[in-house]
Amino acid sequence: MHQKDQWKNYVSDLVTPEEICDKFQADKEIFKVHRVYPFRINRYFFSLIKEKNDPLWLQAIPDEKELCKSNGSEDPFLEDNILSPVPNLIHRYKNRVILLVSDKCAVYCRHCMRKRRVGLHEETFFDNFSDILNYLESHDEIDDIILSGGDPLLVSDEKIEFILAGLRKIKKDSILRIHTRTFSTLPQRITENLCKIIKKYEPVYINTHFNHSMEITGETKKASFKACDYGIPLGCQSVFLKGVNDNFKALSDLFTNLLKIKIKPYYLHHPDPIKGTDHLRPDIEKGIKIMKMLRGQISGLAVPYYMIDLPDGGGKVPLLPEYIRGKGADYIEVENFKGKLYRYPL
Ligand code: SF4
Repeated sequence: MHQKDQWKNYVSDLVTPEEICDKFQADKEIFKVHRVYPFRINRYFFSLIKEKNDPLWLQAIPDEKELCKSNGSEDPFLEDNILSPVPNLIHRYKNRVILLVSDKCAVYCRHCMRKRRVGLHEETFFDNFSDILNYLESHDEIDDIILSGGDPLLVSDEKIEFILAGLRKIKKDSILRIHTRTFSTLPQRITENLCKIIKKYEPVYINTHFNHSMEITGETKKASFKACDYGIPLGCQSVFLKGVNDNFKALSDLFTNLLKIKIKPYYLHHPDPIKGTDHLRPDIEKGIKIMKMLRGQISGLAVPYYMIDLPDGGGKVPLLPEYIRGKGADYIEVENFKGKLYRYPL
């Protein structure tokens, strides 16, 4: 295998349920979940788990609670229908689109907002990439294009280059963004060759995804410093998760340590109401309280926006005092960018 492709060995080196049960004396029954929601963990990420139910275990190892009756929905933002004018493209905001490049990831996160599709679909992105380009060409208002999935960096360097070159040809000045979790789950993916390709099509921003400082290692530091050497700006979108990071210490350590590896904390998402993730959704008021404490006690540069995504197309809103207009027994009332009021469940 060519050196530039050696990261693929880490992708295919998967840990089996039997190994996990043996190492942590876990109940095999939890793996029946994967008949509904796929399970995948590579040896690198597995090596970071220290004990059963620690912050990394909760993100990566199935839990029977995923199959319990849920208040959530599979696709609360109707991405698959209303917002998808062309397969594998989501057009929700006027100037912005999301391309669903891959349905695979290095680890399948139990809290994933696209849990309904990651690891379950045959990949079809490259079958209709020319339709996507035609759509983008006929919509001048689109100037911000996000490569997402699944994880877009699970496809080969050649395919990444094919996508970026195609987009850059028709959208000369647009912002291109890559949303990838590989910096935390598969840092070996960030190779010199990949960085050279991304640099060719700048400006290309990378937003990655870390939820706990246990995910920050020598390998992740090597990956982020390498990307920075190529002038690729790095941000992080974390998710506020029960048992993983729903306390002041976990979040202050995470955000401060991200800055130390040159990754700017950008958003802390309150988890969307996705079916099968209720057990990981913390109290929203707790999140607001922790964010207030963080603003006073860590570098301003390390503090992200705490965001919710409103139902019925209300869009993303930062949970700041000026946007919270009222409160009921089990909801808060939030104003969106158009001044419209929405109820969001607590
Ligand atoms: S890496 Fe992203 S897309 Fe993949 S399972 Fe995790 S949250 Fe979902």
